[in-house]
Amino acid sequence: RIAYVNGLYVPHAEAGVHIEDRGFQFADGVYEVCEILNGHLVDETRHIDRLLRSLGELRMAMPMSRAALGVVMREVVRRNRVRDGVVYVQVTRGVARRDFLFPAGVAPTLVVTARSADRAKTEKTAETGISVITLPENRWERVDIKTVGLLPNCLAKEAAKAAGAREAWFVDRDGFITEGGSSNAWIVSATGLLITRPAEFGILRGITRTVTLEVARRLNLTVEERPFSREEAYAAVEAFGTSASLGVMPVVRIDGRVVGDGKPGRAARALRTEFHKVAEIAP
Ligand code: PMP
Repeated sequence: RIAYVNGLYVPHAEAGVHIEDRGFQFADGVYEVCEILNGHLVDETRHIDRLLRSLGELRMAMPMSRAALGVVMREVVRRNRVRDGVVYVQVTRGVARRDFLFPAGVAPTLVVTARSADRAKTEKTAETGISVITLPENRWERVDIKTVGLLPNCLAKEAAKAAGAREAWFVDRDGFITEGGSSNAWIVSATGLLITRPAEFGILRGITRTVTLEVARRLNLTVEERPFSREEAYAAVEAFGTSASLGVMPVVRIDGRVVGDGKPGRAARALRTEFHKVAEIAP
């Protein structure tokens, strides 16, 4: 495997950044995960747009133009011979003596890696659906920024695993689901409405979420962007999550309670099937 680190393509096993990198010291960095389908980047434009937004919110510099980043991402995909998988991009504020204040005149660190995924296995998972648990929201307020500070997400997903579930959905103080540890959360009400939390507060504006909203429109499914509670989720006829790495992923159990008939729902299956017809597949 090959990784890109600050201008060089290096063997993955030997790739590294300095111990004083602010990504390592403070989680002072942002990232993107972009799906690769048949060797092509999926929704590259949206992912790079969001990366630039995350950087801007943290007053961090982008180390290269978006065109150059696109070239690097493709090169990493090519050198790793990835057909189906993900490409990972991380930018940190760079290397500086450990001090809370932002360093002056430091070049950002840019790391790009790519990894193959077993598409058949993911499809199999989607055919049966996954279980989720709910946990109290304990992340900071700026989860709209895609930072590498993911410790609460790691803890939540570990708790999910310990409970025999695949994902954890966070619940805010008012009892509303925010999002998953690495996915956005959706339900379908008994009246057939697709419900997902607005991206204005408390969640990451998932790229898969945005595209799924468009897919839903094309399928003439009615969407309500509003917060939904854990109790509403328990009573839903369908539930699913969205993320670049897993796509539209049906949820069949929430906190051990069976959702609907315990099988992936019609809406989730249709959205999953149609997704790549709407997503932007780059040349
Ligand atoms: N929320 C969180 C917290 C995530 O980590 C992710 C996955 N990166 C998502 C939502 C889904 O975002 P996307 O569809 O852009 O992968």
